[in-house]
Amino acid sequence: MPTTLTPVLSAHWDEPRAWSLTAYERHGGYRGLRRALTMEPAQVVQAVKDSGLRGRGGAGFPTGMKWGFLPPPDGGPRYLVVNADESEPGTCKDIPTMLASPQHLIEGVAITSYAIGCAHAFIYVRGEVLHVLRRLQKAVEEAYAAGYLGQDVLGSGYSLDVTVHAGAGAYICGEETALLDSLEGLRGQPRLKPPFPAVAGLYARPTVVNNVESVASVPGILRGGAEWFTGMGTERSAGHGLFSLSGHVTRPGQYEAPLGITLRELLDMAGGVREGHELKFWTPGGSSTPIFTAEHLDVPLDYESVGKAGSMLGTRALQIFDETVSVVRAVTRWTEFYKHESCGKCTPCREGTYWLVQVLQRFERGQGTEADIELLLDLCDNILGRSFCALGDGATSCITSAVQYFRDEFEAGTHTPADVLFPPERSARF
Ligand code: NAD
Ligand code: SF4
Repeated sequence: MPTTLTPVLSAHWDEPRAWSLTAYERHGGYRGLRRALTMEPAQVVQAVKDSGLRGRGGAGFPTGMKWGFLPPPDGGPRYLVVNADESEPGTCKDIPTMLASPQHLIEGVAITSYAIGCAHAFIYVRGEVLHVLRRLQKAVEEAYAAGYLGQDVLGSGYSLDVTVHAGAGAYICGEETALLDSLEGLRGQPRLKPPFPAVAGLYARPTVVNNVESVASVPGILRGGAEWFTGMGTERSAGHGLFSLSGHVTRPGQYEAPLGITLRELLDMAGGVREGHELKFWTPGGSSTPIFTAEHLDVPLDYESVGKAGSMLGTRALQIFDETVSVVRAVTRWTEFYKHESCGKCTPCREGTYWLVQVLQRFERGQGTEADIELLLDLCDNILGRSFCALGDGATSCITSAVQYFRDEFEAGTHTPADVLFPPERSARF
């Protein structure tokens, strides 16, 4: 039987003024917070551990376990920082969530903060999306006015302040420690880990950094219970998740489904690849994950199965490319992005992404050589595992997998004229 959608975060997105507090409350909003406030903080942490919720920002680290890493209270502040700096190419789930249902996130912030003993939480939003910032600020104001934030939340004695902060538009600030530096007013560059933020994060204090979708999933767990959540998905990848279909698909958009759904099932719901064309390659989780091909249509999209198939689940940004797209062109475009966004802190990434672009552009111009294919792989080998943060490693995935599945296109790039690889009508759209 085909898997069906499980709309939770996205259940009411198409209703008028779905983003308002009134609409959120009409659908049971803040019942999760009310329940949490009747429990001990440690019981809330346990409920999230029992749910099996894993980080929805891409890495899939168990959320409850991360909360449990905070050292025992010492009387000083501890923080929750929501990573809303969504910037991975193709990734577009957190921004719609914050636009269509910001109270989902704010309720999650209140519950998470209560659970970890935080009195001041931050939501760090990507700098370019001012409309999202305004929507969130308005939603935070509404939540304060209704008594869900501020002094003595719902008469519980617990107090919480929430600050919405805009970044300045650097991809690296989505890396959690660079984000913390940026929030502190420094230039955003990754810090050495360990210590992990749980031990020494914002202002060197214990800090939980969680992705928007992870935090927004918490109210449902408190409302429905851990068993409700584990009833969706697979044994080790529980719950619902937003799958963002983009590119050459008939009905692109957000499809909220249990983890473990396949691209074939999602494409059935999305009307398939655009008419008259066929699937050539796709990304399971943004451009930092190795690409997949039609042979992977039935791989369950959960952490374990995607890992076994040689990729990562990542951000579930499913970018669909049909046969009209040059793999060399797509990979070059992504690599140009990584070169531009490399923060420059470490040599393998700073220099390596520069050289990757130089070599890839030779293939695009039809001036590559057979030796250049080996050079590309050698460069990737010298970046992977030798970079300071995940950006360097992520930049190599699309290249090595593209050579693995489409080596012939790189070989063709040794002589194919550029206008064949990327004709004007196509490159304008990509
Ligand atoms: P990671 O695996 O290093 O860490 C994941 C989380 O677990 C972090 O919060 C980290 O602090 C915590 N953690 C891990 N080990 C820990 C320990 N021993 N003690 C305490 N905490 C621990 O991954 P990462 O570098 O944070 O993120 C990489 C992922 O980010 C990639 O999988 C990619 O998909 C994703 N990504 C997402 C975007 C986006 O726009 N959403 C952009 C780029 C990358
Ligand atoms: Fe900066 Fe790239 Fe090194 Fe990360 S891997 S620290 S982004 S230079």
